[in-house]
Amino acid sequence: MTAAYLALMAFQRETEALAQIAGRLGWDQETVMPRGAAAQRSEEMAAIEGVLHARRTDGRVGDWLAAAEGRTEVEAAQLRLIRRSFDRATKVPAALAQELARVTSMAQGIWAEARAQDDVAAFLPTLAQVVTLRREEAACLAQGGDLYDALIDDYEPGESGASLAAMFDRMRPRLVALRAAVLGASHQPKALTGRFAEAGQLAVARELATAFGYDWTRGRLDLAVHPFSSGAGNDARITTRVSETDPFNCFYSTIHEVGHACYELGIDQAYLLTPLGNGVSMGVHESQSRIYENQLGRSAAFTGWLHGKMVAAFGDFGIAQDAFYGAVNRAQTGYIRTEADEVHYNLHVMLRFDLERALIRGDLAVGDLEAAWNDRFLADFGVAVDKPSNGMLQDVHWSVGLFGYFPTYTLGNVYAGCLHAALRAAVPDLDQQLAQGDTSAATGWLRNHLQTHGGLYAPREVVERACGFAPHEGPLLDYLEAKFRGIYRL
Ligand code: ZN
Repeated sequence: MTAAYLALMAFQRETEALAQIAGRLGWDQETVMPRGAAAQRSEEMAAIEGVLHARRTDGRVGDWLAAAEGRTEVEAAQLRLIRRSFDRATKVPAALAQELARVTSMAQGIWAEARAQDDVAAFLPTLAQVVTLRREEAACLAQGGDLYDALIDDYEPGESGASLAAMFDRMRPRLVALRAAVLGASHQPKALTGRFAEAGQLAVARELATAFGYDWTRGRLDLAVHPFSSGAGNDARITTRVSETDPFNCFYSTIHEVGHACYELGIDQAYLLTPLGNGVSMGVHESQSRIYENQLGRSAAFTGWLHGKMVAAFGDFGIAQDAFYGAVNRAQTGYIRTEADEVHYNLHVMLRFDLERALIRGDLAVGDLEAAWNDRFLADFGVAVDKPSNGMLQDVHWSVGLFGYFPTYTLGNVYAGCLHAALRAAVPDLDQQLAQGDTSAATGWLRNHLQTHGGLYAPREVVERACGFAPHEGPLLDYLEAKFRGIYRL
C-alpha cells in the first residue's frame, strides 16, 4: 500500500461513515421520527448532504487518486470506485446539482398532490423541469455520448439503454403471451379471503425473516408506509407494512427486504466502511431481494411450510395446503407495478423504461407522456387505464429525478433467474430443504458466491462468476413459463 492510498482510504472511511449516518436519518424519518420534527429533519439532512458533497469533491481526493497505486485486486477496485464517484461528482457543476436537489425535493410534494387529485396537468410543468435538469446533468456526464446511458450508469454501471432495450424486446412477446394464457385459463386458483390480525402477521413475518437467515443482532424490523431496507455493514434494517386483508403483502415485502439486507450483511467484513462494502448495483441488489422473495419464497416447497405457519398463527383460514401455492402465486391484471405478480411485473417495468428513455433522449415530449403510457398499457395489459393515479402518476421515481432506475428492477429479475438456475444445479435437494423452512443451503450459496464480494467485481461480472455463464433472460422466462403453466394447468 502506498502512502497516498492509505491517506485516501482513511479519508474515505470517514466519508462512508457519514454516509451511513445520513442513511440512518432517512430510516428514522420513515419509521419513528415524531411528525413535528419534519422541517428540522430536512435541515439536518441538507446539512449532512452538504458535508458529503464537499468531501466527495474535495481536491485532495483528486491528488490522492493521482498518486495512489492499487497493488492488489482489492486496492485497485477500491480506487476504481472512488475515482468513479469523484469524476461523477466533479463533472456536474455545483449550481446544477443544487438546482436539481431543490427542484426534485419540491417536485415530490407536487407529484403527491397531483396523484391524490388525479390531476396530470398539475404535475406536467414540474416534470418538464425535472426532465430538463436531468438532461442537462446527463449532458455533463455523457460528454457527447447517449444521455440516457449516462443516467443508467448511476444505478447500473456498465449497462446501456440499447442493450437493455434489445433484451426487453426479446422478453416482451413471451411475457405478453404468458399473461394472456394465464388470464384465459379455465383453471383459476382460489384467492385468499378473510382478515388476518396485525400481531399475527408480524409474528409470521419475523419467523420468515429468521427462516431466511436475517441476523437480528445486526438488523431490526419496523413498520413503514412503503417497505424498504436501509444501511450497510453491520447495521442493515428492514421495514414492512400490514394490511389486514392481505397478509401476503406483509410476508413477501418482508422476505424481499430481507434479501436486500442479507446482501449488505453478507459482504466480506474486510470491506466494512469502504467503497467495496456496499452492494455493487441496484440490479444485483434486486436479484437478491427477488430470488429470496420469488424463486425461493413463492416456491411450491416453501409455501407448503408457510401454510403450516399461517394455520398455527390464524387457525383454519379456508385454503387447504394443496391450493395454497396457487393462492400465493395467483396472477391478476392490475394497474399498479408494486402490487404486480411475477407474470405482470416486468411488463410494468418495460413500459416505464421505453417511455423514460424516449423522454431523456428528447424523442417524447412531457405533454405526450400520458397518451403514450395509456396506449402502451392497453397494448400490453389488455385493459385501459381508468385514472392517472393508476397510470403515469403512480410511481414516485420520475418526480425525484430517478430516470434510469426502472430497468434495474427487471435486470434484477433476469439475474435472479440465472442465479436460481445455477443454485438448483448446485443444491439438488433444495426443495426438500425449503419444504422444512430451511433456506440455509440456498442463502449460504448466494452469500458465498455473490454477496461476499460487495463492490469487488462489476455487476454483470459478479453474476457471471456466481452462475458460471454469461447472464441472459432465458432462465427467467423458462422459470416463469414452467411455473405458471403448472399452476394454471396449461
Ligand atoms: Zn427491492
